[in-house]
This record gives sequence, C-alpha cells and structure tokens, in this order.
Amino acid sequence: MITHTLDLVYNLALLVALSVISGFLRRRGGHPAWGAAAQGLLFGGAAVVGMMRPLALGPGLIFDGRSVMLSLCGLFFGPLAAGVAGGMAALYRLFLGGPGTPMGLLVIASSALLGLAFRRRGTRSARGLLAMGLLVHVAMVLLMLTLPGRTGLEVMRRLALPILLAYPLATLFIGRLLADQEAANRSLEALLESEGRFRSMAENSTDFIIRYDRKLRHAYLNPAALRMLGLEAGDIVGRTHRDFDLPEATCAFWEERIRRVLETGQPLQTEFQFQGLAGWEVHDSRLTPEFDAAGNIQSVLAVSRDITERKRAQVLLEETLQRLDLAVSSGNLGIWDLDLQTGRLEWNDRMYELYGRSREAEPPSLELWADSLHPEDRAVTYDIYLAALRGERRYDPQFRILRPDGTIRFIQGDGLVNRDAQGAAIRITGLNRDITERKLAEQALLESEEKFRSLTQHLQVGIVVHAPDTSIQLANHEACRLLGLSQDQMMGRVAIDPAWHFLREDGSPLPPEGYPVAQVLATGRDLKHFVGGIHRPGASDPAWVQVDAYQDVDERGILRYVVVTFVDITERRLVEQERQHLQAQIQQNQKMESLGSLAGGVAHDMNNVLGAVLALASANLEAQPPGSPLRTALETIIKAAERGGRMVKSLLGFARKTKAEERVLRMNEILRDEVRLLERTTLAKVRIEMDLAADLRPILGDESALNHAIMNLCVNAVEAMPPNGTLTLRTRNLAGPWIEVCVEDTGTGMPPEVLARAMDPFFTTKEVGKGTGLGLPLVFSAVKAHHGQMDIQSEPGRGTRVSLRFPALEPARTASTAPETPRDGSAQGAMKVLLVDDDELVQASTRMLLEIMGHPVETVPCGEEALARLEAGEETDLVILDMNMPGLGGLGTLPRLRSLRPDLPVLLATGRADQTALDLVEADSHTVLLPKPFSRDEMAVKIQAAQRMRGENRP
Ligand code: ADP
Ligand code: MG
Repeated sequence: MITHTLDLVYNLALLVALSVISGFLRRRGGHPAWGAAAQGLLFGGAAVVGMMRPLALGPGLIFDGRSVMLSLCGLFFGPLAAGVAGGMAALYRLFLGGPGTPMGLLVIASSALLGLAFRRRGTRSARGLLAMGLLVHVAMVLLMLTLPGRTGLEVMRRLALPILLAYPLATLFIGRLLADQEAANRSLEALLESEGRFRSMAENSTDFIIRYDRKLRHAYLNPAALRMLGLEAGDIVGRTHRDFDLPEATCAFWEERIRRVLETGQPLQTEFQFQGLAGWEVHDSRLTPEFDAAGNIQSVLAVSRDITERKRAQVLLEETLQRLDLAVSSGNLGIWDLDLQTGRLEWNDRMYELYGRSREAEPPSLELWADSLHPEDRAVTYDIYLAALRGERRYDPQFRILRPDGTIRFIQGDGLVNRDAQGAAIRITGLNRDITERKLAEQALLESEEKFRSLTQHLQVGIVVHAPDTSIQLANHEACRLLGLSQDQMMGRVAIDPAWHFLREDGSPLPPEGYPVAQVLATGRDLKHFVGGIHRPGASDPAWVQVDAYQDVDERGILRYVVVTFVDITERRLVEQERQHLQAQIQQNQKMESLGSLAGGVAHDMNNVLGAVLALASANLEAQPPGSPLRTALETIIKAAERGGRMVKSLLGFARKTKAEERVLRMNEILRDEVRLLERTTLAKVRIEMDLAADLRPILGDESALNHAIMNLCVNAVEAMPPNGTLTLRTRNLAGPWIEVCVEDTGTGMPPEVLARAMDPFFTTKEVGKGTGLGLPLVFSAVKAHHGQMDIQSEPGRGTRVSLRFPALEPARTASTAPETPRDGSAQGAMKVLLVDDDELVQASTRMLLEIMGHPVETVPCGEEALARLEAGEETDLVILDMNMPGLGGLGTLPRLRSLRPDLPVLLATGRADQTALDLVEADSHTVLLPKPFSRDEMAVKIQAAQRMRGENRP
C-alpha cells in the first residue's frame, strides 16, 4: 500500500514540475496555436512519463495521474492542447496494451472532455477545480466497471476511496498552481502592454519630456525634446547641463529646480524663458519625482510645453485691456449702458459733463437723453438707434445736443448692441465723443472752399487743375468757355485728349508733346507766358490765349497738382495785328515820301542838265543837212535826253503828292488802251480777259500817271506768267463812292517774304537790267496821289491779284476841266523874251534855242532882277520864269510881276509840275506851264500860246 501511495506521490510531483515548465512555456509568447500545441506536447509527455511509472494493480492494469493531467490541460489550454496531450497518452496506452486498455482510453477521453467542458465555464476557483477533480475521478471510478470480469469491482473496491480522496485534491492543487501562473502571466502582459503604450505616448508627444537622474544627468529625452535641442540622444544622455555650452543662468535655473524636487519629493511647476532660434520662447515645465519600489526618489521627470504663442496672446490681450482702460479713463469718452430688460441706464461722469447736466439733479434716464438732443436731430438719431436695435449690430450716429445753457455740441456716437441666443437685443452700450471742434473746422473749411470756388468761377482767368496723372480735377467757368467744353465734359479728361485742338502762335497745329501740361511734366519746370490758339468745337475762329502752367508740390516736394491758367488775348491780338498793319502802311508811305523828296531834289538839277542838252541839240539840228553825220549825232543826243527826261519824270512821280493834272477819267477806256498796246507788242503771248463794268463810275485823275500804273501792273503780270497764262482786267463799282480796278494773273505768285517787300522801292527779284524795282512803288504812289487804296493778294503757284480802289466822281462833275491845248506849229513873229533862271546851263542853252527860233533874249539870274528891269520900263513880250530859284523864286516873283504888267505872258518853267504850280497857272490866264526839259517843238507850242495871249491883249 505504501509503495502504491509513493507511486501516487511520484505522479503528483511530476505534475507539479510540469506546471512549472508549463508556466515558463507560456511566457515565451509567439503564436497562440503553437503555444497550445507546445503545452499539449508537454502535458502529453508528462502523461506518458506518468504512465511509465504507474500504480500497477495487475498486468495491463495501471493507474496514474493522466486524468489530472488531461483535464487540467483541457481546462487551461483548450481543445488543441487537450487533443495533442490526449492523443499522445492514448497512443502510449495502446502501446502498453493489456486488459485495462479500453478503460484507459475511455478515461483519457473523459478527462480531456471534462476539462474542456469546465474551460467553457471559465473555472479557476478552488471550488470549481475541486468539483472538476471530483467529477473526472468519479467518472474514472465508474469506468472501472468496464474492466473485464470481476476485476472491475475488485479494482473499484481497492482504489475507489484513495482515488476519490487524493486525485481531486491533486487536481485542485495543481490547478491552483496553474491558475496563479496564468494570472501572473496576464498581469505581466498587461504591464508590458501599458508600458509600450506609455513609451509610444512619450515618443510621439509634442511636449518635451526629459528624465534627470539623481546626479542631474539626462537619462531620457523624447524625440520632441531632442528635436527642440537639435541633438541626438547619444549626444546628451548621461550628461548634465554643465556639459554643454549653456549660459550660467540656464544651468543654475534647472539645477536649482531639479534639486528641489529631489529634496522635497514634491512636484513643481515652472516657466522658463529663453532666447530661441525664432526669438523669445516661453516653456511651461512640470517636474515630477519618480520613486523606486522602496519609495526612494530615483529620478525627476520634466515635461515641458511651448507656450510662447499663448503668452504672446496673453500679453497682447493685457495691453489691449490696458489701453482700453486708458481710453475710457482718460475722460474724453462719455459711456452709457442701457439694459433693455430692466430699462436701467448708466451714464459715466463724462456723459454728464458732455451734456452739461448734473448727476445729483437728474439721474440718467432715456427722457433726459432725448431731452438733450437738438430738436432738429432728434428724429434722425432715434431712427439710427432703432435701426441698430432691429438689425445692424454696429451704429455710429452723429448728432447735436443742446445743453441747458444753450450751447450746442456735436457728438459722435459709437457702440454695440448685445443680443441673446435668439437674437433679441438685451443690452446696448455706447460711447459719446465730443467732435464739436472738428465739426466747426470742417464747416469753416467748407465755407472757405465755397468762397474759393465762387472766386475762381467768376475770375476772368481760366483755371484748370490737373492731378499728377494729368486728369482734370477742377476747371472754372472761363476755362470751360475758352476750351469750348462744359464743366462735366472737362472733369476727368487728361492733358492729351482728342478733345483738344491747340495751335501754335503762328497758327500751325500744336503737337500733344507741346501742350502746356505735357511741357511742364516733361521739363519739371513751370511754363510762363506761352501763347497759343484753341480751336473750340463749333467755333469758326480760334480763341487766342496766354497760358501759364505751374506745379503745386507738397512739403516733401511731391507733385500734387499742375495748375494751368488761360488769359483770353484774342481781342488784344486783333488790335495788335491791326496796329502792325497800319505801321507797315505808314512805313511804306514814309519810304515813298523820302524817296520822292530825294527824287525831286535830283530831278530839278537833272532837268536843267537834260534841258540844256536838249535845247542845244535841237537848236542846232535844223542847221544840219538831213543825213549828215552831225545831224544823226544830234538826233541821237535828243533821243537820249528825252529818254532821260522821261526817267526823271517817273522818279518825280514819287515826289508828287497830288495829280499832275486832273481830268474826268473813265478807267474802262484806260484799260482798253492798255490792252490795245499789249496786243501790239510781243507781250501779247498771253490770253487777255476783260470783265469791265459797263456802268463804271468815272474818277477824277491824272491820265498819264494812271496809264503808267496800269501798264506797270500788266507788265508784272505778263512777266510772271508762262506763255499760256491768262491776264484778267476787271472793273466794278463798289458800295459807297468807290470803284475798283483789278489786274489778275495766273502766274508764279509771290511767297510771303517777296510779297512783304514787293512795294519797296528798288526791290526786285528779276535779273539785273530787267527789273528796276520801281514798278509797284510807282503804282502805289500814283494810287495814293489819287487818294485811293492798293491791295495785293498772291499765292505761290496760283497767281497774283492787284486791286486798286479809287474814289468815284459824283455824277455832276463829269464835264472835262482840262483845257485842250491847241496845236499850231506856225510862228507868229519874233518875241522879245526875258529869261529868268539861276542856272547858267539853262540860261545858255535856252537862250541859244530861242535865238535859233528867232526870238531875242535877255537873261537875268533871279526874280528880283527881272522885276527891277520891268519896273525900269524895259520892254519885253514874254517872260520865261523858272519856279525854282534862290530868293523870291518863281512863286514870289509872279504876283509882283502881275502887279507891274497884268497882261504880260509868262511861261512858268518847272521840272516838277506840282499842285502849287498847277494852281498858279489855273488862277492866272496869262501864264502857261513849261515842263522841263523841253525840246524845240515843245517850246514852239508854248510860245505860240503866249503869242495868242498877246493877240488877245491887243485887238
Ligand atoms: P520789277 O518788276 O522791276 O521787279 P516791281 O516793283 O514791279 O519791280 O515788282 C517788284 C517785285 O514784285 C518783282 O520783282 C516780282 O518779284 C514781284 N511781282 C510784282 N508783280 C508780280 C506778279 N504779278 N506776279 C509775281 N510777282 C510779282
Ligand atoms: Mg515791274
């Protein structure tokens, strides 16, 4: 029995050892199926070993711990393990064989199955284990009945009690062992798992986590901390702050705090400020002690967080709050607060000051406020507040208040409406600011602006103000008028705009870069007294303006405006042009006059010279036989002298202020004569057209002078034209007492510079010998002598038109006033002549001419001597009296001579048939004009006239 019991104990010991190994196996981890299989093998192995040293009750009849083994394996490790272990045990039992084999196999199966059944219930408690042990072994005892023959009952009798006493206890005992192990394993796993989680938290945290050991060395840093420090774990773990090049203050700061935690064992919180890479940073750190199992402090854990942003926001908020405090308390703001639920209104002291009220006398109320509003602003202000209450959260009304003392203040309101969750207004808080000064200043500014505006609008100077981009900001009335645009059309237009058409002073178009504003902007300099024209839309004539443009800069020298002023000088310019025109005419007259007096002076002497030549030559001509060389020579001399005489005559045309003779003239006839002459000459290579007014009024004038003038114009016209040109002569009556004569050609025309000088004496564009430059001046002086006007229009390439205007004669005076000179060549006997002339050349030559003609001559050099001779009774038939002499001269002598001899014929000799001479001849019926120089024939005619006078005198 003892050995049996020992075997049993041996089996149990095996079980204990087994449980220990199983626990070890369990901790290996790995795949759960492999774990279960391994446990199965272990338990299976143990069952087999148990069966090797069994409690043998007979051959093939063995008892061992296999039931305990397999049930526990099923309970703790599940079907796979139970299957493996059961399988191993069954195989070995079959191998052993014997009569107990069926029972052995059945016990193996029942134990494993019962273990699995209890596993489903999760059994681990002592009672559960004991219950399982009992059930497994009751089943085993019952299975003994399967043994062959009587052995079953025999075995049952012998073993049932010990088995049912020992095996359930063993099951309980080993089961507890396994359960404990299992529990220990579970908590270890949980520990490991939670440690893993914590580590991952630390590794992924954005907080900086650092552990310091007792010697203040860095024991651990999480990645965030390493990143922040820019270090690798290897660089820093095991080192203190002092091992790095840190400021002393930083080291001291941390050492002091870590030590404190180490000494007190209390956690502490601290803020750490430092100069980081991106400016000041602030970290909030919590230092916590870490204890070992014995309760000693092992290390200090510092968890820090970057709170720089939060700090900044906090500082900002504080500053803002401070400022707000300052703003409110500095006293300029009236503050009120209305609780819409209770109707309570609060005013601060400044509100009372602003409204001129006293808190003692009047507590704040809506009535008080409404009463303070200026009556004119009351309704508007209510509206604003009501609108704010209805919807708009913000409002900023401006209104006036009327204080009890009668003063008015301008108030700027501002504030907020607070609403509850449903959007109903619950509270309204406002500020009142006194803006009276600003308002008054604004009003003053408006008034002064208005004054300025009205001033500029009424100024007679155009003003346009351009912004630096040249857009027009302001244009006054006069500017609009001058530029021909309305105020609206002007605004916003720029300096270079198709609306403008400006002209240069000479009338040519002004290019945009020459516009005043463009000039100022281009040069950076002000523009002074620029003269130009403006073509206004719809106006026929340009407006002429004087433009000034200047830059308006601010204190920093930056261009603010370009101001342009326009002064209308159209009128002034017209007057100026007129003045220039008159000036030119006066100059022309003066030129003519000076040339005339020069010519007059020369002509007198020239006439005497020519007269002498002519007189002597013609005196001696008769004496020479026709065809003789001397006669031919004398004839040539006479022709030359006559031609010289004509030249002097035309020079004298300048000197003549009046007509040499006056007759009623019909200009049409003069023109026709001229045409006839032209047609006969080689000049007739041009076409001549006439457009003569049949009813042309006659004029009073000097026929030869006008003939000469028309001739000159026609010659100029023909000379200016190619062979196929057209010369047109026109006459017409003008309005008023005027007629007009026009000479037009289709010739070369004159450029302005030639036209300007065409009437100057001696100005010619023709080659030497061809032009004299005297044609047009002569025409001019002839026209002037006739009190007429002359005008030349000419355009290069198109032709020239010269128009002459003469005063027409009234119809009554159309009878001829010029005496017809009878021409009678026969001599009527010798005349005793007294020749009065200071010029010896004239004396000699005239005397010779007269004597050849058969008239005895006495000569005296002056009027005084002639008078003396007549007074002394000297007999004479004819006096030839020179006009131009020293002393009395012809003019002074004639009246005295008349008083001595009223009927004595007188020939008044003059190189210059001026008005005085003409008047004298007209007034005196016994005086005849003798123009110098004269030929023999001319002298003969004059002497005949004198003889007729004498004949009349002596019937
Ligand atoms: P002249 O004929 O001897 O040159 P004028 O006094 O007659 O002198 O004319 C002066 C100048 O005026 C001329 O040389 C010529 O250039 C210009 N002129 C006058 N008449 C005409 C004309 N009909 N067409 C073109 N040019 C003219
Ligand atoms: Mg000419």
